[in-house]
Amino acid sequence: EFVPASRVTRIKSSPSVAAAARVRELKAEGRRILDLTVGEPDFDTPQHIKDAATAAIGRGETKYTSVTGTPELQKAVLQTLQRKTGLQYTPAEITIGGGGKQVIFTAFMATLDQGDEVVIPAPYWVSYPDMVLANEGTPVIVSCGEDTGFKLTPEALAGALTERTRWVILNTPSNPTGAVYSREELAGLAAVLKDHPAVYVLTDEIYDEIHFGEERIAGMVAVAPELKDRVLVTNGVSKAYAMTGWRLGYAGGPAPLVAAINKLQSQMSSCPSSISQAAAAAALTGDQGFVRESVDVYRERRNAAVAGLNAVKGLQCATPDGAFYAYVNCAGVIGKTTPDGRQITNDEDFTLYLLEAASVAVIQGSAYGLSPYFRISYATGLPVIEESVAAIEKAVTALA
Ligand code: PLP
Repeated sequence: EFVPASRVTRIKSSPSVAAAARVRELKAEGRRILDLTVGEPDFDTPQHIKDAATAAIGRGETKYTSVTGTPELQKAVLQTLQRKTGLQYTPAEITIGGGGKQVIFTAFMATLDQGDEVVIPAPYWVSYPDMVLANEGTPVIVSCGEDTGFKLTPEALAGALTERTRWVILNTPSNPTGAVYSREELAGLAAVLKDHPAVYVLTDEIYDEIHFGEERIAGMVAVAPELKDRVLVTNGVSKAYAMTGWRLGYAGGPAPLVAAINKLQSQMSSCPSSISQAAAAAALTGDQGFVRESVDVYRERRNAAVAGLNAVKGLQCATPDGAFYAYVNCAGVIGKTTPDGRQITNDEDFTLYLLEAASVAVIQGSAYGLSPYFRISYATGLPVIEESVAAIEKAVTALA
């Protein structure tokens, strides 16, 4: 009998990957499913980025690169980090990997020993706790309710820090809520961290280009440059440039941490795909028109989804400021009964009911550590969103 290592049995597979698989299954059975589970842009990668990849193949850039990437990509990442943070990074302070996901995983692997704690505000991206567990760490979940905009407050942060705290994770804009931290909110958290010099901050800014306000989103190092030597800013090209399949992420952080990450990477993957590196360099340095245009599209969809869901009695949806998700409060339907006599006792029951009765696929809040909610993604066409909202309304109205 096959027995996996304990690090495998300690973790679970990603619920969003599981939801996507379930949707594929139902579709294969011939069911038409309105899919609001997708965690990736529904746009194609812009042509100039694809062309850069093709050109790289043509030039024979089909070999291993340095662990820290091609000179072109390094330059592009350095420029991008400066544009985003206002601070200068050096080549020794950046790392690249096969997606933001891999960069974050390797950062934990490079820093966590058994029992080291990682503060994770909930609702959280589903992967954080399992990445911590896989690397022997202990996730410390801090519940951040709707009353604080689903955001970590200085008081809650101070209450969660211990002698064993190694990291605090911030994700702005957030998956699954779309919440964005303001400069003031980050400054408040930075003030707490000032008194805890051993604690590192991982700011996952993978959705930073997708925001609906006028100003670019604030990042922790820009707000508190004095923390730069213990902040790891992680990012990637997946979301902003519709490049999820290219698998290219990057991070900027203190040189000793980056060296540890790169040492592990040298034994794990050597480097991400050279072709993807060429494409990512083109994405980061080329025309940014695609980003602006796609954000306009996301904004229109967000407005339609939020207005539509708020019109459903029993549901309540705060307006997200970024990313392409909304986190919908479904407390008003818990305790109700479906037409075939089953009681809805939690958000998982409700999402199953929506799938059966409305053919709408969403993900239950319990997967993200805060109930009773469900996450919708609006990285899908406006007609699908409108049809989904109508179907959800009909299903909710049928509850007694
Ligand atoms: N961080 C968050 C919050 C995400 O939602 C995702 C993707 O879903 C990632 C990081 C990783 O993206 P990638 O590995 O494609 O760069």
